[in-house]
Amino acid sequence: MSQSKPPGQKPRVQNSVPKKLEEQLLKAGSRVFLTQFPNPGRQGCPDGKLLKNLAWRRRFSEVREVVEHLTQCSPCSQEHRRYLRGYRTFKTTQRIAAVLLLTLGATWLWLRFFNVSEKPPEIIKKPPVVTPQPPPQPEPREIALDLRNRSYSRGEDVPPRNGTEKDSLRLPREQLRLKVYLALGSEAGKYDVQIRKRSDPVLKISGKAQVKGGVTTLEFQADLSSFVPGDYFLAVRPPESTVWRIYSVVVP
Ligand SMILES: [Zn+2]
Repeated sequence: MSQSKPPGQKPRVQNSVPKKLEEQLLKAGSRVFLTQFPNPGRQGCPDGKLLKNLAWRRRFSEVREVVEHLTQCSPCSQEHRRYLRGYRTFKTTQRIAAVLLLTLGATWLWLRFFNVSEKPPEIIKKPPVVTPQPPPQPEPREIALDLRNRSYSRGEDVPPRNGTEKDSLRLPREQLRLKVYLALGSEAGKYDVQIRKRSDPVLKISGKAQVKGGVTTLEFQADLSSFVPGDYFLAVRPPESTVWRIYSVVVP
């Protein structure tokens, strides 16, 4: 044994067993100590706790005495060896656990910060915007008015009395597309149209008249859906004219 120290360096005082010394002990012990020093009465044997402390590298003051005893007592050597095996198993398990923890931790970090595909799907908090559709407009009802043989009053004259006609003109309270057959000889072009209550216009529109097969037909649309039922007047003014032709109508 040549454990020579450089001059001037103090030998280190420590209570735990240096690893090299332990290995040497074990190698030698396995051959000699374990068998060659029977001590059936366990004379001078240290407490089992100290043997375990030695195997588990725990510090205690009687390290040197215990190591020395191991070189002279096979039962203690065997006991120490059992503790050592337990310690090594424990250490191995500890290392595996540490590696597992590290791996799990690293995996978690990687998933958390780098792996895009592991992101949970985005939760849409707002419901999709539904553009409100305007309610469908009812198709205007087509009405034909034949004014060809109707009597009418002119301009601001006192309008004809209601009910004088046998079959008064009727306009339903709806959206209407009107086809008005004008008096014979009426010219084509743009006509102004009014629906009046007494002398007050409640609807002002215009329409275009065309001559087809000798009949002048004026076409326009009128919304009568909000009309109050009653007697009205339909006033029609030909193009370039200042005179209205006024017809009596009934809105039932
Ligand atoms: Zn012993």
